[in-house]
Amino acid sequence: MSRTSPDLPAAFIEQLRIVSGQHQQRKILTDPADCWAYSYDNSRGRSLPAAVALPESTAEVAAIMAACAEHRIAVCPRGRGTGTTGGAIPPQGGLALSLERMNRILSVDPANRVAIVEAGVINQDLQNHLQPHGFFWPPDPTSAAFSTIGGNLACNAAGPRALKYGTPRDNTLGLTAVTPQGKIIRTGSYTTKSVVGLDLTRLLIGSEGTLAIITEATLLLTPIAPAETTLRASYASMKEAAAAVSRIMAQACQPRAIEFMDSGAIRALGELEQNPLPEQTRALLLIDVDGAVNGLQESVDAIKAAAQSAGLLEWLRAGSAKEAAILWQSRKALSPLLRKLAPGKINEDIVVPVSRMAELLDALERLAGQHQLLIVNYGHAGNGNIHVNLLYDPADERQTAAANKCLAEVFELTLSLGGSLSGEHGIGLAKRNFVDLEIDTETLAVMRGIKSQMDPLNILNPGKMYPDQSGD
Ligand SMILES: Cc1cc2nc3c(=O)[nH]c(=O)nc-3n(C[C@H](O)[C@H](O)[C@H](O)COP(=O)(O)OP(=O)(O)OC[C@H]3O[C@@H](n4cnc5c(N)ncnc54)[C@H](O)[C@@H]3O)c2cc1C
Repeated sequence: MSRTSPDLPAAFIEQLRIVSGQHQQRKILTDPADCWAYSYDNSRGRSLPAAVALPESTAEVAAIMAACAEHRIAVCPRGRGTGTTGGAIPPQGGLALSLERMNRILSVDPANRVAIVEAGVINQDLQNHLQPHGFFWPPDPTSAAFSTIGGNLACNAAGPRALKYGTPRDNTLGLTAVTPQGKIIRTGSYTTKSVVGLDLTRLLIGSEGTLAIITEATLLLTPIAPAETTLRASYASMKEAAAAVSRIMAQACQPRAIEFMDSGAIRALGELEQNPLPEQTRALLLIDVDGAVNGLQESVDAIKAAAQSAGLLEWLRAGSAKEAAILWQSRKALSPLLRKLAPGKINEDIVVPVSRMAELLDALERLAGQHQLLIVNYGHAGNGNIHVNLLYDPADERQTAAANKCLAEVFELTLSLGGSLSGEHGIGLAKRNFVDLEIDTETLAVMRGIKSQMDPLNILNPGKMYPDQSGD
């Protein structure tokens, strides 16, 4: 078992200071006031680490991990703490290991469409750096301005354009990572084809910092399309909007993004929406299309034809990049805005097959009525990935009990429709005890076996991702 005491042995702290460069005291923080900033993430949970390490190289991370293994200290890797599931919270105290100072873009290689970056690079900084080269890295979580590439990889975090361009798993060629024993490993290759060895790159991506600490990534870049446009479709009902998504996905033209907002989300946006919607609007689709200059109009026409239905109230096309940004502004504002609607928010990111989305949204409306809760839904409709937000007041016992009961029913519903509990946020602490609803015992045992093979002392992000078995 890893050490659970909030206090760490002086010999361990001294060892950390030595491996981090003795004179650089600010690389190891032990004052609780300094550690406080590393005690929470966007899940609103909190647990204070006993110390924080701020390494600046892979070699330093390796030396720190070796010291942690020697002293059996629990380690919680961390990007910028924007995760929604408590993954970057250290429930056992121990050491928070923040990658924030490993923020260098090491190379950009347009001929091979590759960039090598350190794990602490902020997603948006990378995109800004790539733009003059005519490339981008596809994963675009709404938190791109704050979250790190390491955090994006650890969670397989994605965003709207995953629909066309895929998730981190589809856009990463290789990783440098540090094992819980402090060994440096290199996975994948610099090339887009390679079948040598097991695919540890895809294994580490999405493992939420439980198997190894990612310190560098070799990322596959995509050229920026010469033309793009944003479309907005307003519908009289969620059912009509969901059916339109199915029809759009069933035709040949691939949109870059199809985002969905239900009537609760539209109401929440209220005055923020700068382009007034038809009064009867109960659901909204935001659709991005990109491609060659010549083919763009044809793509828009094909998507518009598929989106047509008796319930389509309005079809709007942004006339410029500025107008497109305004249309997207409301969608991007939604997540933080909901925090203002109710003091408590359970924010899930379930996924169902696109063709089952209408059934899902219908059933969610029924659940909201049964539990007398406000449920607001929006998200990446083209992937069937819906952010279901149960809004409630934690000070109200009835609402709290109803929200928790409703959550379990939302998960049961999702699985009954052939879906999955999380499309991009991951499991962390928040959802660990629901995982065995989706993954059977035998499969879970294989996963636990991999964890104990890589981390026999269970010191790397313990207590995350797997159902609680032994109070770990
Ligand atoms: C307003 C807002 C919008 C968001 N929108 C989206 C969205 O559209 N799509 C989406 O997918 N997510 C979204 N998120 C969730 C979150 O931003 C992402 O999961 C993001 O990838 C987390 O990055 P981070 O650097 O903040 O990681 P952290 O929150 O610090 O860590 C997340 C997890 O990754 C692990 N980890 C971090 N760095 C490393 C590393 N280098 N090696 C190993 N493990 C590591 C941590 O231990 C933890 O388990 C949103 C969050 C907010 C607050």
